[in-house]
This record gives sequence, structure tokens and C-alpha cells, in this order.
Amino acid sequence: MTRAHSGLGMTSQRTRARMIERLRAEGIRDERVLAAIAAVPRHVFVEEALASRAYEDSALPLGFSQTISQPFIVARMIEILLAGRALGKTLEIGAGSGYQAAVLAQLTPEVYAVERIEPLLARAKLNLRNIQEFRVRLKYADGHFGLPEAAPFDTIIVAAAAASVPQGLLQQLAPGGRMLVPVGTGEQTLSLFERKPEGIVETRLNSVRFVPLLSGLE
Ligand code: SAH
Repeated sequence: MTRAHSGLGMTSQRTRARMIERLRAEGIRDERVLAAIAAVPRHVFVEEALASRAYEDSALPLGFSQTISQPFIVARMIEILLAGRALGKTLEIGAGSGYQAAVLAQLTPEVYAVERIEPLLARAKLNLRNIQEFRVRLKYADGHFGLPEAAPFDTIIVAAAAASVPQGLLQQLAPGGRMLVPVGTGEQTLSLFERKPEGIVETRLNSVRFVPLLSGLE
């Protein structure tokens, strides 16, 4: 038994069910998304000292000045990307703990996730192994450049805020593809980009708060 699975036991089952009810109450409607979130034990992905808070609807520190996103945001972003379609080949920028990648892997067989902080990438690998999730392909890379060797993608989800729209990522969007990215410094807006026959269409959604998308590797 790994440390990740010890201790919480039934408490985890109950608090996880409560988290799903809360997401429902907050307006998450897509049952596919709720089932995917219910399937992933979030406490495995947070630091041990914070495991008891893993099912609260809040962002939590991951170390290295990074945070695991709030479950509501993860659910909402995936719900938008899924609306009326399947995710298809998916790229996540900013794997962090690997949590969101694990949720995505419940919904589509082809998930790639990149991370620029090497120790976080190592931890994401370990976390995914701890839950026996071997379908996510993790890469050590600066996500500004996407993942040329696996492009194009039907879905791109960016888990950190870009100062400006990352053009390199837009280029890796397949026809009919969707990308969700928080854009801005300070004030950030969640933007949806869709590659339609007439070209790229942007829809600005709500304001959000993410850690910044940084350049280079650490
Ligand atoms: N999705 C993660 C949390 C994301 S926090 C989870 O579920 O745990 C944002 C992550 O984006 C951080 O880990 C940060 O290191 C990473 N990041 C920031 N800029 C990046 C870049 N240019 N390329 C890849 N990852 C980046």
C-alpha cells in the first residue's frame, strides 16, 4: 500500500461523493465530467499534510510556487471542452501534480501533458503510477511550443495563464479542435479558441486566477 492510499480510506469515499454533489450544485451538469472527477482520488495528488483538504473546492499548494487547480475549475474547463463532442487527442500544458491529466485520461484514451519543472514532472509520474494510471504521456518541455511530435490535437487545455495568446499552440489545433487558455497578467480571462472552417474563432469566457505560464525549463 502506498502512503497515498493509507489513512483516508472510507473518509475519502464520503468526502469525494460530497465534492461531486458540490460541483453539481455549483452548476457542473455533464455527467461524464462528474464521473471522471469521481474516479480520481485527489488526495493522492496533494502533499501529505494537505490530504485531509483534498476534497475541498480550493486550489492547494504543490510546492515550487505552483498550485493544483480548484476542482470546480478543472470540471468547468473540461465541461466546456467536451460540450457536444469528444475530447479526442488531448494536450495539457502544465501537468503540475498530474491530477487534471488523470481526470482527462478518464475521458479520452490519448492524453499528453507537459511540465517545465522537472521535480514536479517526477512527482506527477509517481502520483499517476500510485493510482495505476498509465495512459498519460508526460513530457518535460516548455508548453509554449506545444508538443510538435504529437500534434495536431483535438483539445488543448492550458493550466497556467499566458501573457498573450500562445500562437504556437493555436497552430497545433486540429480542424474542429478546441483550446482553453487563461490569458492575461493580473486580470486573466479564460478564452476558448476553436478551429472552424472559416478560421480560428475566439470566445472570451469568465475571469479566472491561474499561476503564470513561464518560459524555459527548471
Ligand atoms: N494541472 C495541474 C496544476 C497546474 S499549476 C494539476 O492538476 O496539478 C500550473 C502548472 O503549469 C505548474 O506546474 C507550472 O510549473 C506549469 N507551467 C507553467 N508554465 C509552463 C510552461 N511554459 N510549460 C509547461 N508547464 C508550465
